[in-house]
Amino acid sequence: MPHDPIALASQLIACDSITPARGAVFDALEEMLVPLGFAVERFVAGEAPDGPVENLLAVRGAGGRHFAFAGHLDVVPPGDGWASDPFAPTLRGGLLHGRGAVDMKGAIAAFVAALAGLEQVDGTISLIITGDEEGPAIHGTRALIARMAERGLHPDLCLIGEPTSVARLGDMVKIGRRGSVNMWISVPGVQGHVAYPHLADNPIPKLVRILAAIEAIHLDDGTDWFQPSNIEVTDLTVGNPATNVIPAAAHARLSIRFNALHRGEDLVARIRAVLAAEAPDATLKAQVSGEAFLSQPGPLSDLVGNAIEARLGIRPDLSTTGGTSDARFLSALCPVIEFGLPNATMHKLDEAAAVEDLQMLTLIYRDIVAQALR
Ligand SMILES: [Zn+2]
Repeated sequence: MPHDPIALASQLIACDSITPARGAVFDALEEMLVPLGFAVERFVAGEAPDGPVENLLAVRGAGGRHFAFAGHLDVVPPGDGWASDPFAPTLRGGLLHGRGAVDMKGAIAAFVAALAGLEQVDGTISLIITGDEEGPAIHGTRALIARMAERGLHPDLCLIGEPTSVARLGDMVKIGRRGSVNMWISVPGVQGHVAYPHLADNPIPKLVRILAAIEAIHLDDGTDWFQPSNIEVTDLTVGNPATNVIPAAAHARLSIRFNALHRGEDLVARIRAVLAAEAPDATLKAQVSGEAFLSQPGPLSDLVGNAIEARLGIRPDLSTTGGTSDARFLSALCPVIEFGLPNATMHKLDEAAAVEDLQMLTLIYRDIVAQALR
């Protein structure tokens, strides 16, 4: 079977493609797409340490409705202790083992196999594939979106093949994601002898007051589609080995996961205000790693939900849980939805996708494209 999703997934898994990915794994995907009539454009973006990263944009057709599929060919490092070589795809007990089988070479293979069996459809189909989703993601999907704008490509809807299913294929899809912002707080002091506190300035009580004030912030109670936003203190460092020294500085780190009621910059301003009130000489560094987004339930979630239900007899939960994904960027283009394999083994040792799930995912992806471009 030339377009068996298992064979295609195996070809992709066999290419070691730890983030940032380039080269062989993209060659393999290009070789699959060209015979299917796709014009394939590849480009390398960025410099060390965030790159260089390879990206691939494949387009078939022109005009009409535009269906986009997005994904990534990079994988997280395998770690030690696999039962078989993580980059040598292995079938065992009805499972295809290998790094990326679930996240997300399996889904890319299923989408390619779906296209191979697709009857003639109108409109445009594109694949937006990056080699940096698992890393800093600075020169990946963002660069692809810029390239699409240059090419005048405007998808009407986008399916992302991230592994969203939980206990079984099709039980969950993602229609949004929470945003994420990390912050680093530093409180300066004046180092000195514990017995002579009037000659020193202890930064620790100030940092404790700051953290107490932050801990007292209630961001929201959640929304119809989102859980409440949460602030977590993720590190607290003084690093003072001496019992008789007042330290010179104290540091803390925060991570906020926030729903669509907030914007990253507003949260940074809010924490900055706490610092200004409690310790005006404290400094704050912040990095918004992604804004929250929601693709309101509607035609796209109905389309995907119906396709899943027709094949599997279950209706997926529409969820906004989990970490960030490239959907945070793609949601600026059009409504996005994420649907893929069960995610139990993603990023783990012995990552594996069920052969049966890969075959079923292929059929459901095919139904989704056919319906979307009907
Ligand atoms: Zn992924």
